[in-house]
Amino acid sequence: MGNLRHMRVAANRSRYVRDELPTVVGQPKAPTSPAVAAQILRLADDPNSNAAQFAEVIRTDPALTSRLLETANAARFALREPAATIGRAVSVLGLRRTRMVALGFQLAAHLDELGGCPFDLTTFWRHSLLRACLAQEIAAEVVPTLADEAYVIGLLQDCGIVHLVQGLGAPYAELYATANLSPAAFYERETQRFAHNHVEAICTMAEQWNLPQVLAEPLGRHHCRVRPRRIGPESSELERLSAVSYFVGSLPMGHEEMFALSDPAVRDYAAANLALAEPALHDCLRRADHACREVVPSPAEHLPENPDVPDLVEHANCHLSRATSEAARHIEAVEAECDLIRRQQMDLKSALGQYRELAARDPLTHLLNRGALAEAAMACIRKCRDKNAPQCVFFLDIDDFKVINDDFGHHIGDEVLRVLAGVVSDTVVNGGCAGRYGGEEFIVVLPALDEQESRRRADGLVDRVRRTSFPDPFSNHSVTCSLGAVWGRPKPGMSAQELFTAADELMYQAKLGGKDRCCFRSFESPDAVLVIAPNGRTVQPAASSLDHAHLGSENAHPTREEFHRLAVELNQSQSQRFADLRKRERHGLLTPCVVNCFIGGSPTLQGSAAYVRNISTGGLGVLVVRPMIRGEPVEVALQQEDEHSKLLYVAGLVAFCRHVEGRIYEVGVQILAQAKDPIFSRDPSSAAQRFDWVVAALRTAHDQGEPLKEGA
Ligand code: GH3
Ligand code: MG
Ligand code: MG
Repeated sequence: MGNLRHMRVAANRSRYVRDELPTVVGQPKAPTSPAVAAQILRLADDPNSNAAQFAEVIRTDPALTSRLLETANAARFALREPAATIGRAVSVLGLRRTRMVALGFQLAAHLDELGGCPFDLTTFWRHSLLRACLAQEIAAEVVPTLADEAYVIGLLQDCGIVHLVQGLGAPYAELYATANLSPAAFYERETQRFAHNHVEAICTMAEQWNLPQVLAEPLGRHHCRVRPRRIGPESSELERLSAVSYFVGSLPMGHEEMFALSDPAVRDYAAANLALAEPALHDCLRRADHACREVVPSPAEHLPENPDVPDLVEHANCHLSRATSEAARHIEAVEAECDLIRRQQMDLKSALGQYRELAARDPLTHLLNRGALAEAAMACIRKCRDKNAPQCVFFLDIDDFKVINDDFGHHIGDEVLRVLAGVVSDTVVNGGCAGRYGGEEFIVVLPALDEQESRRRADGLVDRVRRTSFPDPFSNHSVTCSLGAVWGRPKPGMSAQELFTAADELMYQAKLGGKDRCCFRSFESPDAVLVIAPNGRTVQPAASSLDHAHLGSENAHPTREEFHRLAVELNQSQSQRFADLRKRERHGLLTPCVVNCFIGGSPTLQGSAAYVRNISTGGLGVLVVRPMIRGEPVEVALQQEDEHSKLLYVAGLVAFCRHVEGRIYEVGVQILAQAKDPIFSRDPSSAAQRFDWVVAALRTAHDQGEPLKEGA
């Protein structure tokens, strides 16, 4: 039954402590000794005073010490290691803030009353300091690493009493002042009589001030119903510090000499619980007494007989308002600087934006340049792939542009490029992009259109180019273009360049098909190429022979000398490249030849003057005046140097084709057959069969890895 009552009382107490105590202790601020205040003001008057000097004074006063720790542990400093000592708090706050904390002291109007109740402040301050010095000295023996923390604990232990006197008023103050009880007995009595005791009060304040556990826990255990365990080798530092706090908190402090070791109970307790034998304890007490006399400011030294409290306060306020306006000026200066930096940042950002924009654009047409185009296309590809949407890439090349330059001059060529760039960029739909890929080549990327719509737009673009009118003196002329378009869902890992190349190959097919048209291909059915001719008629070419144009007319041929010059140049410029490769075996043959290839739906043979640049095992490099398509069957009739006017015939398939200069392309021919007699051209009427033979030969070569030689 008694147990139950005890539990209920305990539950009520904890509710009070939780709900009410914060308001009881939260409001009044503890006063500072006028002697300390006078020292602070002297330091504040001295322009050379430093943070350490302020710290030395602050540490003699419980109220200022608690405020210093509270400020240093405030959330805005968010310390990784909270401040538990005065030294650390000062180093966190620096001189300016430490000075502000110090000048924020409160003064009591009378030293013998507090909140209208009798209270001997001078004795309270002296006892607090004695406990601080004593705790530090004993901790130096018991837990030396935390001696400075012990000082703070001794100093703040009884702050709860000051706050409860102000919060609970006369009954509490009277109990404290008149009962003449030992600290432990006073704690018992206050606990019985009041809803709060000074241990709960200091715990609540420790929480409000954000004190770290190393301070809060020993403060909360400086009196307790259950004595702390005696310390031994296994005791933690925190347990040791709590034991010191308990011991110091229990020592009675008389008005006179409190350090006399008259009480055997104290000696026995120290020996048994703190492992502190009498001589060591005696030393601690002596040193503490000495230290205390050193630090306690003697009022006579710092103050006139009757300190004028309002005067001290006004003096402090004067310093504070000066510091405040200094801080305000400082803030203004910092804000102005921030503004400036922000403006500079904005300027830089916009300059960077403009620079990026400039760097991404082609200066003539203002379309994206090649690099920026690849980036924009890649972004577009990624988006389409994420949505599993198809996309379409156009590669547009102006037809016979060189002629415009030659006939009208480069400035007109430029104007044509500018006008057509506008036509190209008008094709772009939401999320797509357009750019200038090279000289008179443009690329358009269109996302998320279906196949039919993409084809319609490709054809529409060719049509619009054809119908574009230009300013004078080119107004009577029209321009056409060849366009390659690929459509479909890009495969994973497919780069923008791969799409461009695929569209470029189709553009060549459009050129070969007679220009002014579009070749369209879907990834989904890669073999089917659709040619859309100028009249809008779609032509489905045979799988292996597109609607080829013939290989250029004779009068467009470069001269033999030109071919020769180019071949020499190429061989020279690339000799280094091939120096370490197997390809160095290649021989520069440098001889004119005739390239025969097939044209038309029902293939007929067409010849064209060309030039052999080099020859190596299995292949020929031939300079021709038109691009050719990979896989195209060709016959090369070439003059052998040693045998006069004897021709050697080789036949094979085009392995690669690249633009060299002007109208000249280099074509690599993989040799599948060679003979002293014409292979294809012996009997043009049977050319078709010959053609089949080459395809079959290619297949066999592929299967066996060996080129076939006719007649061999
Ligand atoms: P095709 O129909 O086979 O495409 O013939 P083409 O004449 O259009 O193509 P070719 O590649 O032979 O010539 C392209 C010309 O474009 C050569 C080059 O001098 C010219 N060119 C490249 N860039 C510019 C430029 O910025 N301004 C002008 N005016 N001409 C340029
Ligand atoms: Mg071109
Ligand atoms: Mg062109």
